Amino acid sequence: MTSLTFRGGVGEIGGNKVLLEAGGKRIWLDFGMSFKQANRYFAEFLQPKKYNGVVDFLEVGLLPPLPDMAGFYREDYLAHADMATQAYATYDAVFLSHAHADHSSYIHFLRRDIPIYASEVTRQILAAVETTSAANFTEFLTFKETFKLRPKKRGEGLMKLEGEDAKVARDFGAIAAGEHFRIGDLTVEAVAVNHSIPGALGFLVHTPQGAIVYTGDLRFHGYGGDLTRGFVARAAEAEPIALLCEGTRLDETESLTEQDVQERVAKVVNQTKNLVIANYPWKDIERMRSFYEVARMTGRKLAISLKQAYLLKQLEGTDAAAPSLDDETIAIYIDRKGWGLITKPDYPGSIVEQEYSAWAREFLSYPNRVTCNDIHRHQRDFIIRIDFFDLVDLIDIRPEEGSCYIRSVTEPFDDEGEIELWRVENWLKHFDLYPYEQIHASGHASGPEIKRLIAEINPKLVFPIHTEHPELFADIVPKGTRAEIPEVGKRYHL
Ligand SMILES: [Zn+2]
Ligand SMILES: [Zn+2]
Repeated sequence: MTSLTFRGGVGEIGGNKVLLEAGGKRIWLDFGMSFKQANRYFAEFLQPKKYNGVVDFLEVGLLPPLPDMAGFYREDYLAHADMATQAYATYDAVFLSHAHADHSSYIHFLRRDIPIYASEVTRQILAAVETTSAANFTEFLTFKETFKLRPKKRGEGLMKLEGEDAKVARDFGAIAAGEHFRIGDLTVEAVAVNHSIPGALGFLVHTPQGAIVYTGDLRFHGYGGDLTRGFVARAAEAEPIALLCEGTRLDETESLTEQDVQERVAKVVNQTKNLVIANYPWKDIERMRSFYEVARMTGRKLAISLKQAYLLKQLEGTDAAAPSLDDETIAIYIDRKGWGLITKPDYPGSIVEQEYSAWAREFLSYPNRVTCNDIHRHQRDFIIRIDFFDLVDLIDIRPEEGSCYIRSVTEPFDDEGEIELWRVENWLKHFDLYPYEQIHASGHASGPEIKRLIAEINPKLVFPIHTEHPELFADIVPKGTRAEIPEVGKRYHL
């Protein structure tokens, strides 16, 4: 018997957590965070407590309260919260579609002996997030044993097990597009799709009852748009009994493409006399490529942040099609930190280095590194990415008259987003960068595209997920296909 249980991604965009059970095997398709639910209870300075482990997350419904939690959640957390533990896992694997937090970030809470599979690119992006993030609960590839004591290295007594000594690698395997992966009676087939982050996969799970297709997040445009068309064709061939289909933009028909973004950005940059400041999502390599191409064509350099530089380094040698770090069009913007010594030539290098995290230090000596002074002095030579948290850097950079700001991220969809945009606008007005240019293309297929996708795959049953409008699926499915709006926690036998 094959069954599906949805523990997230129902009636909301993201937070996907789908349990698939067949032939005694139990696998998860994604295990991500629900932003909507997290924002209901938490804010920047109101965060779950580390000492409570999974408790705070269970309390507010961010983690599912499973009947056999001891076989699923990390033992160090359960034990510290006086919850039952056991020696073995009762789940066989987790397959991640891509590295967006709403699909992957809660693997932090899983037992170390549950294997995780994703594309190599996803693995490298998660490694970059894990290394560069200052946030708690970001142990994706490395598991840090928590709440344990160990004998002191010198002298008597005990000390907390921390730092390097606490680190253990997770069982995190790379699965290549096209690969068939067997777990008991199940065969998981990974198929590449295009999305607003590289390395995204859709999955076909072949069960004794037939194939189940999971789209993950996908779009048809972009440099890798053909991947998504290939996925749809492959899914159709499998004649699936069920399709788990994303519907982020089901109520939208407009479809600006990545190519349109590049053309519009080029037009703006061509008309800009001085500095071009842009904000785009740091993990969206296709968007970075659009800005990179425009920079190359207009004789500018694309200045990226330290975090993006680290990401590019991680992606070297993968098939992410990311620009190379030593490309002559790429500059690494070293923002001032601590005492701001990067722009003070009289301080010794060893002191300057201390102002940066260990992972960032190597970039300080790259020949293509630039500082706010370089950008200020050569404004017409750069497109610089400044994200929300870096806006204060504008004070160091001092954009001159004839500069512009391109906002290349999604429109706000909640009150918090509106307030954030209001703050951005205040900065832009302050520096005479207002009005700004909004140029963005979505990472998700539009309503008409999803309709065609379902018609082509032609499954018996569709479960709408990753959408605030699951009810709209009933109107777009072809004859002979039933749209079933999943209920959280209910087990669907196929
Ligand atoms: Zn998503
Ligand atoms: Zn996504």
